[in-house]
Amino acid sequence: MPPDAAPPTPDLAPYAEPLAHWFEARARALPWREDRTPYRTWVAEVMLQQTRAATVVPYFERWMARFPDVATLAAADEEAVLAAWEGLGYYRRARALHRAARTVAAAGGAFPGDAAGWRALPGVGPYTAAAIRALAYGERHVAVDGNVRRVGARLLADPAPRDADLAAALAPLLPTDRPERGTEALIELGATVCTPRDPACDACPLANACRARAEGDPAAYPAPKARPAVPTRRRYAAVHVDGDALWVVRRPPDGLLGGLWGLPQGDDPPAGTTLAPVRHVYSHFVLDLVPVLRDGPPDGDGRWADPDARAQLPFSGVDRTLVARLEADGHLASAGPAGPATLRP
Ligand code: SF4
Repeated sequence: MPPDAAPPTPDLAPYAEPLAHWFEARARALPWREDRTPYRTWVAEVMLQQTRAATVVPYFERWMARFPDVATLAAADEEAVLAAWEGLGYYRRARALHRAARTVAAAGGAFPGDAAGWRALPGVGPYTAAAIRALAYGERHVAVDGNVRRVGARLLADPAPRDADLAAALAPLLPTDRPERGTEALIELGATVCTPRDPACDACPLANACRARAEGDPAAYPAPKARPAVPTRRRYAAVHVDGDALWVVRRPPDGLLGGLWGLPQGDDPPAGTTLAPVRHVYSHFVLDLVPVLRDGPPDGDGRWADPDARAQLPFSGVDRTLVARLEADGHLASAGPAGPATLRP
């Protein structure tokens, strides 16, 4: 071989069955892997966008108890959906699931028959559609998420592979019988063995095919991406307290925290007593939210929420943290034994 020629692509087909067997023997028991239906697979894949599997498990189980099928989800009101999602973050995912469920229900309750139909639903991108078609319908697809991208980059020793090229290059790893085992095995391998910093190559069923391992530094693949600096924003939360009730508002339906409840926020400091800020890290900015204890009646369209109402309403993470801080510091009464929630104008 000439010295500057690219090394040959490893022959992956002989590894398809060993990879599938590794998955069957070693995969984590995750609830969405039992009773694989399109609905359960879809909900799981949307929850797993940007959230780790271990975090998703209790949310998924509660969700399935509350909304066991697409008709139940479509019939639910948005507040119940957001309350079930509270703590998972990226709430547009919950709103998109809800809108998509209503679209499916309005069309008679049958899920789309192909990947293009799935991609037309709110919140379903190319990866999610490919994963649903592979995992719930047994179609032959490599669904390339961040885990599979890392495994593929290392197998091929390619610092920046394109997803479409990876899907084609890794396709020989799908076994002839039940190819979805291979699709999910690649995802599982990236999550549990071929981890970002310290891949456990000695436990990897693909070790003998892996070019990055042969080179000696698998963690060098894929090449790290330059991360843009994350700005910090300072905003102010108006704290109005009446007895044990707190004045809360519902965010407009569109926007970062659409549909969630929380304290009124603004960019300018209102008059009152300023308390220490609460910091919350979002994906593309850091929020320093400064609570300000206010006198006098509140403005705008809101509600007085007693402790039980606050516990039941869907709040964003930063609002939940802020309320807990106000309660801990004695500015606000905390919930006693659970009682009827009061939400008054
Ligand atoms: S041998 Fe190592 S680097 Fe290569 S795929 Fe397996 S775990 Fe990843």
